Amino acid sequence: MIELRTPAEIEQMRPAGRFVAEVLTTLRDQTKVGTNLLDIDRHAHEMIRAAGAQSCYIDYHPSFGASPFGKVICTSVNDAVLHGLPHDYVLRDGDLVSLDFAVSIDGWVADSAVSFVVGTPRDEDLRLIDTTQRALAAAIAAATTDHRIGDISAAIAGVSHAGGYAINTDFGGHGVGHVMHGDPHIPNDGKPGRGYPLRPGLVIAIEPWLLATTDELVTDPDGWTLRSVDGSRGSHSEHTIAITAEGPIVLTDRSFLGVD
Ligand code: MG
Repeated sequence: MIELRTPAEIEQMRPAGRFVAEVLTTLRDQTKVGTNLLDIDRHAHEMIRAAGAQSCYIDYHPSFGASPFGKVICTSVNDAVLHGLPHDYVLRDGDLVSLDFAVSIDGWVADSAVSFVVGTPRDEDLRLIDTTQRALAAAIAAATTDHRIGDISAAIAGVSHAGGYAINTDFGGHGVGHVMHGDPHIPNDGKPGRGYPLRPGLVIAIEPWLLATTDELVTDPDGWTLRSVDGSRGSHSEHTIAITAEGPIVLTDRSFLGVD
Protein backbone atom coordinates (compact mmCIF):
# COMPACT_ATOMS: atom_id res chain seq x y z
CA MET A 1 0.00 0.00 0.00
CA ILE A 2 1.32 3.41 -0.94
CA GLU A 3 1.03 5.95 1.88
CA LEU A 4 1.23 9.71 1.45
CA ARG A 5 2.65 11.90 4.22
CA THR A 6 1.31 15.26 5.34
CA PRO A 7 3.66 18.28 5.35
CA ALA A 8 3.80 17.94 9.17
CA GLU A 9 4.84 14.29 8.87
CA ILE A 10 7.53 15.19 6.33
CA GLU A 11 8.88 17.68 8.88
CA GLN A 12 8.91 14.86 11.46
CA MET A 13 11.08 12.82 9.06
CA ARG A 14 13.80 15.47 8.87
CA PRO A 15 15.74 14.48 12.04
CA ALA A 16 16.26 10.92 10.77
CA GLY A 17 17.40 12.27 7.40
CA ARG A 18 19.84 14.71 8.98
CA PHE A 19 21.25 12.03 11.27
CA VAL A 20 21.82 9.60 8.40
CA ALA A 21 23.57 12.39 6.46
CA GLU A 22 25.79 13.20 9.45
CA VAL A 23 26.73 9.57 10.08
CA LEU A 24 27.59 8.86 6.45
CA THR A 25 29.67 12.06 6.27
CA THR A 26 31.53 11.20 9.48
CA LEU A 27 32.18 7.62 8.41
CA ARG A 28 33.32 8.66 4.94
CA ASP A 29 35.75 11.16 6.47
CA GLN A 30 37.15 8.57 8.88
CA THR A 31 37.38 5.64 6.47
CA LYS A 32 40.96 5.40 5.18
CA VAL A 33 43.49 2.89 3.94
CA GLY A 34 43.96 0.65 6.99
CA THR A 35 40.40 0.99 8.34
CA ASN A 36 38.74 -2.31 9.29
CA LEU A 37 35.12 -2.73 8.10
CA LEU A 38 34.18 -3.93 11.59
CA ASP A 39 35.38 -0.59 13.02
CA ILE A 40 33.09 1.29 10.60
CA ASP A 41 30.15 -0.76 11.91
CA ARG A 42 31.24 -0.27 15.53
CA HIS A 43 31.49 3.48 15.12
CA ALA A 44 28.09 3.64 13.37
CA HIS A 45 26.60 1.65 16.24
CA GLU A 46 28.07 4.08 18.79
CA MET A 47 26.55 7.05 16.95
CA ILE A 48 23.16 5.28 16.81
CA ARG A 49 23.24 4.67 20.57
CA ALA A 50 24.33 8.24 21.36
CA ALA A 51 21.47 9.65 19.24
CA GLY A 52 18.83 7.28 20.63
CA ALA A 53 18.11 6.11 17.07
CA GLN A 54 17.00 2.63 16.02
CA SER A 55 18.95 0.62 13.44
CA CYS A 56 16.86 -0.63 10.52
CA TYR A 57 19.45 -3.28 9.71
CA ILE A 58 20.49 -5.13 12.84
CA ASP A 59 17.34 -7.30 13.11
CA TYR A 60 16.55 -7.17 9.39
CA HIS A 61 15.66 -10.65 8.14
CA PRO A 62 13.91 -10.62 4.75
CA SER A 63 13.12 -13.74 2.76
CA PHE A 64 16.37 -13.45 0.78
CA GLY A 65 18.56 -13.10 3.90
CA ALA A 66 20.19 -16.15 5.44
CA SER A 67 19.77 -14.82 9.01
CA PRO A 68 19.22 -11.45 10.73
CA PHE A 69 21.78 -8.96 9.36
CA GLY A 70 23.35 -8.41 12.77
CA LYS A 71 25.21 -5.18 11.86
CA VAL A 72 24.05 -1.56 11.55
CA ILE A 73 25.61 -0.59 8.20
CA CYS A 74 26.30 -2.20 4.83
CA THR A 75 29.95 -2.03 3.79
CA SER A 76 30.41 -3.17 0.20
CA VAL A 77 33.98 -3.12 -1.15
CA ASN A 78 35.18 -3.26 -4.79
CA ASP A 79 33.21 -6.01 -6.59
CA ALA A 80 30.65 -6.02 -3.73
CA VAL A 81 27.96 -3.42 -4.38
CA LEU A 82 24.90 -4.08 -2.20
CA HIS A 83 24.13 -5.52 1.25
CA GLY A 84 27.80 -5.91 2.14
CA LEU A 85 27.97 -7.56 5.56
CA PRO A 86 30.79 -5.93 7.56
CA HIS A 87 33.55 -8.45 8.21
CA ASP A 88 37.17 -8.51 9.31
CA TYR A 89 38.77 -6.77 6.32
CA VAL A 90 41.32 -3.95 6.36
CA LEU A 91 40.90 -1.49 3.50
CA ARG A 92 43.75 -1.24 0.99
CA ASP A 93 44.95 1.59 -1.23
CA GLY A 94 42.48 2.18 -4.07
CA ASP A 95 39.58 0.19 -2.59
CA LEU A 96 36.11 1.38 -3.68
CA VAL A 97 33.79 1.49 -0.66
CA SER A 98 30.00 1.76 -0.61
CA LEU A 99 28.28 2.54 2.69
CA ASP A 100 24.50 2.08 2.97
CA PHE A 101 22.86 3.21 6.22
CA ALA A 102 19.30 3.45 7.51
CA VAL A 103 17.84 4.29 10.90
CA SER A 104 14.55 5.21 12.48
CA ILE A 105 14.19 8.26 14.74
CA ASP A 106 10.86 9.04 16.44
CA GLY A 107 9.31 6.30 14.30
CA TRP A 108 10.45 7.66 10.92
CA VAL A 109 13.07 6.02 8.70
CA ALA A 110 15.76 7.57 6.51
CA ASP A 111 17.97 5.57 4.14
CA SER A 112 21.02 6.73 2.17
CA ALA A 113 24.15 5.36 0.52
CA VAL A 114 27.45 6.76 -0.70
CA SER A 115 30.45 5.38 -2.61
CA PHE A 116 34.05 6.62 -2.50
CA VAL A 117 37.64 5.46 -2.92
CA VAL A 118 40.20 5.24 -0.11
CA GLY A 119 43.76 6.14 -1.03
CA THR A 120 44.71 6.51 -4.68
CA PRO A 121 41.69 6.23 -7.00
CA ARG A 122 41.60 4.57 -10.40
CA ASP A 123 40.11 6.72 -13.18
CA GLU A 124 37.55 4.05 -14.07
CA ASP A 125 36.33 3.93 -10.46
CA LEU A 126 35.90 7.71 -10.31
CA ARG A 127 33.91 7.59 -13.55
CA LEU A 128 31.70 4.80 -12.20
CA ILE A 129 31.02 6.73 -8.97
CA ASP A 130 30.42 10.00 -10.84
CA THR A 131 27.94 8.33 -13.20
CA THR A 132 26.03 6.79 -10.28
CA GLN A 133 25.86 10.17 -8.53
CA ARG A 134 24.67 11.88 -11.72
CA ALA A 135 22.01 9.17 -12.20
CA LEU A 136 20.71 9.90 -8.69
CA ALA A 137 20.75 13.66 -9.31
CA ALA A 138 18.82 13.23 -12.57
CA ALA A 139 16.30 10.97 -10.81
CA ILE A 140 15.75 13.49 -8.03
CA ALA A 141 15.31 16.27 -10.60
CA ALA A 142 12.61 14.12 -12.25
CA ALA A 143 10.77 13.59 -8.94
CA THR A 144 8.16 16.27 -9.52
CA THR A 145 4.37 16.10 -9.29
CA ASP A 146 3.91 16.34 -13.07
CA HIS A 147 5.80 13.02 -13.46
CA ARG A 148 5.36 9.32 -12.72
CA ILE A 149 7.66 6.67 -11.27
CA GLY A 150 8.68 5.70 -14.80
CA ASP A 151 10.21 9.14 -15.25
CA ILE A 152 12.51 8.54 -12.25
CA SER A 153 13.45 5.10 -13.62
CA ALA A 154 14.09 6.49 -17.10
CA ALA A 155 16.26 9.28 -15.69
CA ILE A 156 18.47 6.73 -13.91
CA ALA A 157 18.70 4.52 -16.97
CA GLY A 158 19.40 7.45 -19.30
CA VAL A 159 22.48 8.61 -17.39
CA SER A 160 23.70 5.05 -16.76
CA HIS A 161 23.38 3.90 -20.35
CA ALA A 162 24.98 7.11 -21.64
CA GLY A 163 27.95 6.22 -19.43
CA GLY A 164 28.11 2.78 -21.04
CA TYR A 165 26.84 0.87 -17.99
CA ALA A 166 24.20 -1.87 -17.97
CA ILE A 167 21.46 -1.92 -15.32
CA ASN A 168 20.30 -4.77 -13.11
CA THR A 169 16.72 -4.22 -11.96
CA ASP A 170 16.64 -6.91 -9.26
CA PHE A 171 17.07 -4.24 -6.56
CA GLY A 172 15.92 -0.63 -6.68
CA GLY A 173 14.34 2.16 -4.71
CA HIS A 174 11.36 1.90 -2.38
CA GLY A 175 8.83 3.73 -0.29
CA VAL A 176 10.11 4.95 3.09
CA GLY A 177 8.04 5.65 6.20
CA HIS A 178 7.68 3.84 9.50
CA VAL A 179 9.52 0.91 7.91
CA MET A 180 12.55 0.90 5.60
CA HIS A 181 11.09 -0.93 2.61
CA GLY A 182 7.56 0.07 1.62
CA ASP A 183 5.61 0.57 -1.56
CA PRO A 184 6.10 1.66 -4.23
CA HIS A 185 9.10 -0.08 -5.80
CA ILE A 186 11.25 2.34 -7.82
CA PRO A 187 12.94 0.38 -10.63
CA ASN A 188 16.31 1.63 -11.87
CA ASP A 189 15.13 1.30 -15.48
CA GLY A 190 11.75 2.04 -17.01
CA LYS A 191 9.67 4.03 -19.42
CA PRO A 192 8.91 7.73 -18.95
CA GLY A 193 5.27 8.59 -18.35
CA ARG A 194 4.47 5.14 -16.92
CA GLY A 195 3.64 3.95 -13.44
CA TYR A 196 2.29 5.50 -10.27
CA PRO A 197 1.93 9.31 -10.39
CA LEU A 198 4.29 11.22 -8.09
CA ARG A 199 1.84 12.74 -5.63
CA PRO A 200 2.71 15.29 -2.95
CA GLY A 201 3.57 13.42 0.25
CA LEU A 202 5.16 10.41 -1.42
CA VAL A 203 8.43 9.63 0.40
CA ILE A 204 10.84 7.31 -1.39
CA ALA A 205 14.43 6.16 -1.42
CA ILE A 206 15.98 6.40 -4.88
CA GLU A 207 19.08 4.23 -5.25
CA PRO A 208 20.91 3.74 -8.54
CA TRP A 209 23.74 1.23 -8.35
CA LEU A 210 26.03 0.21 -11.17
CA LEU A 211 28.62 -2.44 -11.97
CA ALA A 212 31.47 -1.55 -14.32
CA THR A 213 31.18 -4.35 -16.89
CA THR A 214 28.22 -6.61 -16.04
CA ASP A 215 24.65 -6.53 -14.76
CA GLU A 216 24.82 -9.92 -13.04
CA LEU A 217 25.21 -10.51 -9.31
CA VAL A 218 26.33 -13.40 -7.15
CA THR A 219 25.74 -13.78 -3.39
CA ASP A 220 28.61 -14.38 -0.98
CA PRO A 221 28.61 -17.41 1.33
CA ASP A 222 27.68 -14.95 4.13
CA GLY A 223 24.17 -14.98 2.58
CA TRP A 224 24.07 -11.18 2.19
CA THR A 225 26.90 -9.55 0.27
CA LEU A 226 26.10 -9.12 -3.43
CA ARG A 227 29.04 -9.04 -5.86
CA SER A 228 29.44 -8.64 -9.59
CA VAL A 229 29.67 -11.99 -11.36
CA ASP A 230 32.79 -10.88 -13.27
CA GLY A 231 34.70 -9.20 -10.44
CA SER A 232 34.18 -5.71 -11.82
CA ARG A 233 33.59 -2.93 -9.31
CA GLY A 234 30.30 -1.41 -8.20
CA SER A 235 29.00 1.96 -7.01
CA HIS A 236 25.82 2.92 -5.13
CA SER A 237 24.18 6.31 -4.49
CA GLU A 238 20.97 6.70 -2.50
CA HIS A 239 18.89 9.47 -0.98
CA THR A 240 15.52 9.52 0.77
CA ILE A 241 13.34 12.23 -0.73
CA ALA A 242 9.89 13.68 -0.14
CA ILE A 243 7.84 14.74 -3.16
CA THR A 244 6.02 18.03 -2.67
CA ALA A 245 4.11 20.43 -4.88
CA GLU A 246 7.12 22.76 -4.59
CA GLY A 247 9.56 20.07 -5.73
CA PRO A 248 11.53 17.24 -4.11
CA ILE A 249 13.00 17.63 -0.61
CA VAL A 250 16.18 15.58 -0.18
CA LEU A 251 15.77 14.46 3.44
CA THR A 252 19.25 12.85 3.57
CA ASP A 253 20.98 15.78 1.81
CA ARG A 254 24.56 16.23 3.04
CA SER A 255 25.04 19.74 1.65
CA PHE A 256 24.30 21.38 5.02
CA LEU A 257 27.49 19.68 6.19
CA GLY A 258 29.43 21.29 3.35
CA VAL A 259 29.84 18.03 1.41
CA ASP A 260 28.15 16.45 -1.60
MG1 MG B 1 19.80 2.08 1.69
